[in-house]
Amino acid sequence: MGFEQVIGQDLIKKTLQRTLQQGQVAHAYLFSGAPGSGKKMLAQLFAQALNCTSLTEAPCGFCLSCRKTTSGNHPNLVHLVPQGAALKIEQVRDIRESLHYRTGEGRFKVCFIHEADRLTLPAANSLLKILEEPPGELVFILLSSRPWALLATVVSRCVHFSLKPLSADAIKGILQERFTLSPGEQEVVLEMAAGNPGQAVEMATRGGWTEKYQQVQDLVKEIEQGPGRQLFSLAEEVSKRENLDETLDLLFMHYRERWLQCLPARGRETSRLENTCHAVLQTKEELGGNVNRRLALETLFLMMRGVV
Ligand SMILES: [Zn+2]
Repeated sequence: MGFEQVIGQDLIKKTLQRTLQQGQVAHAYLFSGAPGSGKKMLAQLFAQALNCTSLTEAPCGFCLSCRKTTSGNHPNLVHLVPQGAALKIEQVRDIRESLHYRTGEGRFKVCFIHEADRLTLPAANSLLKILEEPPGELVFILLSSRPWALLATVVSRCVHFSLKPLSADAIKGILQERFTLSPGEQEVVLEMAAGNPGQAVEMATRGGWTEKYQQVQDLVKEIEQGPGRQLFSLAEEVSKRENLDETLDLLFMHYRERWLQCLPARGRETSRLENTCHAVLQTKEELGGNVNRRLALETLFLMMRGVV
């Protein structure tokens, strides 16, 4: 099983295959993309391919090295994960030493740095020092969903692959292969996952999206047309939901759909719906910070009702 098991990301796959064929392997790679975008899977296949002994297609998935890699037992692969909130300098130092003593099994020693944006400044500098004079056949693979939070000097030392969202058709293909969703439910998952295969699969596994979307539509009806005095108790009830983010995403989807339908008319209603879309997004952002959830929702609901 090789790179073909990754759907989409054709340009990255081609570049990696060319790198392997030509044997021009860099000392550091950065794979960035949202959680669920598939960066880890691609990076792991690349690491597997680096030490694969197949002469025809790497990674073959069958040779001893490939099997050790997929079972997590390859002695030449190490993983650095944050200890608490940060990747510390001691961890980078330990890796440096341990890599020095590793057996010569396979051609490359590969060090994964997970959530690389959590490298502390001293740790990042220590990594840079290694990259200045890298021991032969050592490859660092950095993974990050927040590449902008990495030191520019670190990024500049890496070959950077930024994973792009997949097309709706590609996501549809993944879903249809593994799940039996109703067309309505599939539509909600496609819209909410926005090109992220991991998120689409996670959502499809949880299921119940037709009902969840219907509940949000009922909520909108109550807010827009129900008794006005209910607004505040609704805000209070919704503010206590654990999956508030999800409710807001579904709300956004609802208003965006109405806005798209209304768009050809370009009247007052169109701009009202557009403003509401913005307001939902803004509320979601605010709730990420330290605001009063109930008050933020009251403001949003008043706007949805057309009061403010
Ligand atoms: Zn192999």
